Amino acid sequence: MRLAPEHIGELWWSDLALHTGRYAVFALLTWAVLWVGLKRPLRGRKIREDNPPAAQMALEFLISMRSVVIFATAAMGMALLSEAGAYPLSRLARHWGPVWFWTSLVLMIIGHDAYYYWSHRAMHHPRLFQKFHRRHHRSHNPSPFSAYSFDLREAALMSSFVILWPLAVPTPWQVVTLFILHQIARNTLAHAGYELMPARANGRPMFDWLTTTTHHDLHHASGGSNFGLYFTWWDRWMGTENPDYYAAFARAVRRPLGRRPVLPATPAPAAPLRG
Ligand SMILES: [Zn+2]
Ligand SMILES: [Zn+2]
Repeated sequence: MRLAPEHIGELWWSDLALHTGRYAVFALLTWAVLWVGLKRPLRGRKIREDNPPAAQMALEFLISMRSVVIFATAAMGMALLSEAGAYPLSRLARHWGPVWFWTSLVLMIIGHDAYYYWSHRAMHHPRLFQKFHRRHHRSHNPSPFSAYSFDLREAALMSSFVILWPLAVPTPWQVVTLFILHQIARNTLAHAGYELMPARANGRPMFDWLTTTTHHDLHHASGGSNFGLYFTWWDRWMGTENPDYYAAFARAVRRPLGRRPVLPATPAPAAPLRG
């Protein structure tokens, strides 16, 4: 099917409605459930004492709408590129079955985590920070509405991953949709202000390879550490995890921070008998 020019506008509007809906549903739901409905039972999981002012959250919502315009335009561009045959790998991958379907989703999430870590570190370079990333860090105390509160350049950088990845890796289009849902869910939770990760008895995160809300909250509080989005791998490999992370997590879940579990020592090999 070839898109008639008059349908391009319709496509853009439907992409805009879809991206707005996803952001609004995730941000509003997270805010309504955690900050209003479960406010009392989750008292013991609130990361900071204070809430950001309502004016900050309203501005984050408006700026996120501007980012959504960039994402919708990128989605329309991808649809047009796909029409022009620019995504042969995605067409091919449709027929590769469920194993590849789920594998390609995991690969896309891992790929995006690496892309995000390195582009995020680059945006913190003094020469790029003001132009790319200042807006996001105006939210010193983030809220569920901070998820897409980006400068225009940051929004463009974020959407370019979704445009480029299926050019290189055979990824069915439904996987791209699932990836975007996972991305907005994790992104909103990273800014949710409450620590939802289960804690171990020693006050450390249950799934320590995943980033937590506290992990990203520390990034907003201090800036120069914790650049990862979904996983803690890159920050640990590159030595950029905040040294206060475990203590901050333990404070957020109201547990004393215990020592790391010590593995039982391997018994020394028996000395050879002499005689
Ligand atoms: Zn953030
Ligand atoms: Zn940052």
